[in-house]
Amino acid sequence: MLGDGQLGAMLRDAGRRLGVDVETLNPEPAETSQAWAPRGHAIITAEREHWPDNGFTRNLQAEPGWLNAAAFAALTDRQSQKALLDALQLPTAQWCQVTAEADLQSLRAALNGEFLLKRRRGGYDGRGQWRSQTADGEGMPDWHDEAIAERCIDFSTELSLIGARDAQGNMVFYELTENFHAGGILQISLMQPGRFARWQREAEFYHARLMSHLQYQGVLAIEFFLTDAGLLINEVAPRVHNSGHWTLAGASVDQFEMHLRAISGLPLVTPMQPGCSVMVNVIGRAVDPACLTLPGTRLHWYGKQERAGRKLGHLNFFHPEAGHAAEWLRQLPLDAVFAESRERALRALVGDCPE
Ligand code: AMP
Repeated sequence: MLGDGQLGAMLRDAGRRLGVDVETLNPEPAETSQAWAPRGHAIITAEREHWPDNGFTRNLQAEPGWLNAAAFAALTDRQSQKALLDALQLPTAQWCQVTAEADLQSLRAALNGEFLLKRRRGGYDGRGQWRSQTADGEGMPDWHDEAIAERCIDFSTELSLIGARDAQGNMVFYELTENFHAGGILQISLMQPGRFARWQREAEFYHARLMSHLQYQGVLAIEFFLTDAGLLINEVAPRVHNSGHWTLAGASVDQFEMHLRAISGLPLVTPMQPGCSVMVNVIGRAVDPACLTLPGTRLHWYGKQERAGRKLGHLNFFHPEAGHAAEWLRQLPLDAVFAESRERALRALVGDCPE
C-alpha cells in the first residue's frame, strides 16, 4: 500500500483480520529502504492520491502489480477529473479552467456568478480553495493554470457513496452517507438505512459508470452535493475515504476489508448495514476522555501529534435505532466548532430526508 497514514494503518488492521498481508510504504523512504521489492505477487494500491515523484514511487508504479494507473492519472488532478466527469456525462458542478488571462470578472461571467478557486493538486480539507464571494476585487490568488474555477453550489446537503469493484467487474456499494463539514473539514458522517433511498440508485449508476470506465479495482469514494436539480458530483477519491469510517462499526464488511477483498480476488458482497451509524472526527486536539464514558463509543486514535485542523482520530457509534444515535450524539462532549454540524446531524436523525 503506497502511503503510511491512518488509512494505511486501518488497511493493515483489516489485513490482519482477513489473513491478507498488508505492507504500508512511506512514499519518502529513508535511504536504506530504497531497495524495497515486492515479495511474490504483490498487488500494489495507494491509500493517498498524491505522492512525491521520486525513484522509489516511480519504481513502485513500474511494478506489474501496480493497479489503477488510469484512475490515478485521471483523478489526481482536479482539471482532468472534471474533464473526465464531463466526458462521461456525469453531473458535476459547472467549472472552467483558470487560464493566464482569467480574472474575477471573466470567471464570474463564465460561471454565471460566484465561484470557488480550487487548486488542481494537493488541496484537501478545504485547503487550496478560495471563494470569490469574499473577494474585494483584488484578492484573487495568482493560481493561474494551477487551479480550476467551480461555480458556488447551493446544496441542501452533502452525500458520499463508497463503492468497490474487483478485477472481474463485480461491484458493491454502501448506503449513501450524509456528511457535515465546517470550514471545508468533515466533522460528522451519518448513515441511516434507506434515508436517501431515492438517490441511491442514481448515485450507484454514476459510480459504476466511473469505475467501469477506469477498470478500477478496490474502493473508490464519490462526494455529492444534493441540489434542487438532483445529485452533482463534488469530487472523487480513488481510495478508502473518511466518510466511510462509520463502516468499521456499522457494516458487516468495512471499507478497509472491502478494498482488500476487491484487490485480492476475495468475494465482494453488499455488506449488511442494519442500523444507524454516526462517525465524529477528532480534530486538532486530543479526544475528551469523557467520550469514553458513553458505552456505545468506539474510538479510533491515529497516534498523531495535536495540530490545529488535523484529523487525529474518529469516534464511531452504531445502534439499530436512530433515537439512540441521536442521544449519543447529544451527549458527546465536543468543542464549540462542532455545534452547527451536531445540530444539523441531530435534525437529520429525527427529521425527514431533504428534497
Ligand atoms: P472539497 O475539498 O472540494 O471537498 O471541498 C470541501 C468543502 O467545501 C465541501 O465539502 C463543501 O462543503 C465546500 N465546497 C466545495 N465545492 C463547493 C462548491 N462548488 N460550492 C459550494 N461549496 C463547495
